[in-house]
Amino acid sequence: MHTTSPAKGIFVNNRWSPAASGRTIPVIAPAEGKVFTAIAAGGPADVDLAVAAARVAVEEGAWSRLSATERGRLLTRLGQSIADHAEELAKTEARDTGKPMKQARNDMIAAARYFEYFGGAADKVHGETIPFLNGYFAVTERVPHGVTAHVIPWNYPAQMFARTVAPSVAMGNAAVVKPAEDACLTPLRMAELAAEVGFPEGAINVVPGLGEEAGAALSAHPGIDFISFTGSPEVGTLIQSAAARNHIGCTLELGGKSPHVVFADADLETAIPVIANTMVQNAGQTCSAGSRVIIEKRAFDKVVVALAERFAQLTAGTPEMDRELGPVINAVQKRRIESFFERAERDRIPVLGEGRIAAGVPAEAFFVAPRVYGPVPRGHELACKEVFGPVLSVLVFEDEADAVALANGTDYGLMAAVWSQDGSRALRVARRIKAGQVYVNAFGAGGGIELPFGGMKKSGHGREKGFAALHDMSALRTMIIKHD
Ligand code: NAD
Repeated sequence: MHTTSPAKGIFVNNRWSPAASGRTIPVIAPAEGKVFTAIAAGGPADVDLAVAAARVAVEEGAWSRLSATERGRLLTRLGQSIADHAEELAKTEARDTGKPMKQARNDMIAAARYFEYFGGAADKVHGETIPFLNGYFAVTERVPHGVTAHVIPWNYPAQMFARTVAPSVAMGNAAVVKPAEDACLTPLRMAELAAEVGFPEGAINVVPGLGEEAGAALSAHPGIDFISFTGSPEVGTLIQSAAARNHIGCTLELGGKSPHVVFADADLETAIPVIANTMVQNAGQTCSAGSRVIIEKRAFDKVVVALAERFAQLTAGTPEMDRELGPVINAVQKRRIESFFERAERDRIPVLGEGRIAAGVPAEAFFVAPRVYGPVPRGHELACKEVFGPVLSVLVFEDEADAVALANGTDYGLMAAVWSQDGSRALRVARRIKAGQVYVNAFGAGGGIELPFGGMKKSGHGREKGFAALHDMSALRTMIIKHD
């Protein structure tokens, strides 16, 4: 019997159960500042059960006997089911994260699209034949890792679940997901939908709980074969250490400080709304947010005026108000962002523009008005550190070489954009930026399911999205057959 309430426990073998410890974790609605539900506090015993269920699924259960085409059909059905339940899921996501309803709806379209895309791709991952010694026939095939562990963050729970689970199960792995304690209701519900559309027992399991309990137990579990992690660099280090101890692979997506490089000849009418919107999308809590704008000196004033005007039009509101942004996730995150504001004030960094918080939002909620700061000195934390809030930093560059040096001047390397109407220059600069995705005259934070995505430098390693994700979620086996 499935329950329709997403907060009923741990989802293993297509069934709900409470945490072995019986404990729960209260969940706060960021736009209300109040507890509205509770989730199970999964721990090591629950992780053991989930990993064992996934192991059976991938080695001897009904899941292991499906062909790639049959797996693909199940993924496609799940994508359709998510689309069919999009309104319900969007409402759940909006309450859990505080994001505006229009954004939550878009997130559900993207989540459905992940399963649609990887469903279609499941039976299209081919190996190669390799010319080898006379009398031999050599081929490669991609095989599942086995049990994949997924530790995901709270900023886009539904999309993150879909982004990491869809390529895993498309390749025939069985997944154990540890969603974030701050927001995990849609991953739980989507696992339930997977069971409803026919995913066999053990293929997709979700163990909610605290990071240091369920997350640590899962990432260190000897029964897993691969880890996919998205979140903070600090926890990324713990995850990679845990993977190293078990000698398994992992992908890490650890955020960024992604630059927009704006040349004086850029089409500002196109660029400014894109820059502002992708910064405040999800209240700036997006790993791929374009949080630095690097502007050619002679266009600095013009660009700054346009950005300030745009920021002045932005309002943070509740999901139902459906404004440009919602609150941030919790009190700690709000405090963290405000401490950046305090240090910026101490260091006399000018506020160039500021949005507002809508009248009538609850006083206990976690709202932060969006801000643009500049010119930010190059070594300042606002120029190098990920704020993970609606805060844009503006910097100045002298010439092309300087633009490249500045764009590459942080530890991160996730995304970048170059804005210029000189095509040769835009391409030349774009190709010198060390980032996993580089846009020219556009920028997309999130979405782009077909586009391989992931970090260089300290933004992490491994690729999600596109066919690259299917490669990361599988191992290459070489078969050598002697026939003479
Ligand atoms: P986090 O890294 O603490 O959490 C991400 C996931 O890891 C969650 O599921 C969490 O429960 C789990 N986790 C935490 N401790 C763990 C441990 N010891 N072992 C295994 N799993 C563990 O991130 P956060 O607290 O949600 O956010 C903190 C900062 O991380 C943010 O301010 C932001 O800078 C960054 N962040 C980045 C992204 C991104 O998309 N790259 C997403 C969320 C947060």
